[in-house]
Amino acid sequence: MLKVEHIGIAVKDLEQAIPLYETLLNTSCYKTESVDSEKVNTAFFRQGDTKIELLESTEPEGVIARFIEKKGEGIHHIAFEVADIEAEMARLRAEGFTLLNETPKKGADHKLVCFLHPKGTNGVLVELCQEVR
Ligand code: ZN
Repeated sequence: MLKVEHIGIAVKDLEQAIPLYETLLNTSCYKTESVDSEKVNTAFFRQGDTKIELLESTEPEGVIARFIEKKGEGIHHIAFEVADIEAEMARLRAEGFTLLNETPKKGADHKLVCFLHPKGTNGVLVELCQEVR
């Protein structure tokens, strides 16, 4: 894996969270994007070589809504950038990790993504992401 590409944070209300994180990080949100397949609105902030991704559910039954219901707002996942997502998925599958999607899917911010089940990673939802150019 190349680096921590971003950290995903589940929030109830992007409108509230965006200005708060702009103040906290002292940088402007450079992009907002809806990802229909995940039922989320996202907002991105650059922080040096990595990013912060805020996630707000667009539906009461969405994964982020259910996460907040169970655990409250907070860190939702850590995303690692990989050069070849198919190869990394095959490697991790062979090592016994449980992948939450069997083929890479389209994520926010021009990425192909795959998630690992947190049961196999000490409770951390891990995202693999590969830049699509
Ligand atoms: Zn992410």
